[in-house]
Amino acid sequence: MTTENPIRILLVEDEKRLARLIERQLIRADYSVSLAFTAEEALIKAISEEINLILLDINLPDKSGFEVLQELRNKSYSTPVLILTARRQVEDRIQGLENGADDYLVKPFDSGELLARIHAILRRSGVERTSILSAADLVFDVVKKTVRRNDKELNLSQREQALLEFFLKNKNQIITRKRIAQEVWGYKFETGTNIVDVYVSYLRRAIDDGFERKLIQTVYGQGFILKDS
Ligand code: CA
Repeated sequence: MTTENPIRILLVEDEKRLARLIERQLIRADYSVSLAFTAEEALIKAISEEINLILLDINLPDKSGFEVLQELRNKSYSTPVLILTARRQVEDRIQGLENGADDYLVKPFDSGELLARIHAILRRSGVERTSILSAADLVFDVVKKTVRRNDKELNLSQREQALLEFFLKNKNQIITRKRIAQEVWGYKFETGTNIVDVYVSYLRRAIDDGFERKLIQTVYGQGFILKDS
């Protein structure tokens, strides 16, 4: 089960029923969603919130989506924008792309198509979902080097982060000390030291201390396991 996903999408759509429908699809795909029903709201949220992608409707009550896009790009706002348009005219597409949109999607679209476009844009812009590793309420952004549990930021050393990354990539599996020594430290032979145990205990202190649920467990005689559920 995936938990929190910090990729946040600003959805700008004035048709509330459609907005709610798209919002549900995005949440189901593990995105976090911020909604704006007007151009004014969109401009405020785009600037004040941390947004990874904007889904921008063109026909809005106060201004057009193109004006929103232009205002953002004039401020050197570089977050990718996917235009949603009900109009099939070619001019829409050209105007959108000239104004700095990354892609456009003609309504009505199905959720599979929407998610595929979103995924492609995020991949191109480097906001890859693979940069996020998680287990239960722990989220590790391996690009930003931040570790959070239940929204609390945790401090880990570089080596602890490397160890955590290895645990998260192999979660719910028993990992032997030998494998950890090989893959995290690059040791090809038995080390004869207890460096793995020492660092696993540091990591436990960093991510499990103060939390009722302990993510890392010792499997007697075999190694360790980081459990997701
Ligand atoms: Ca509209």
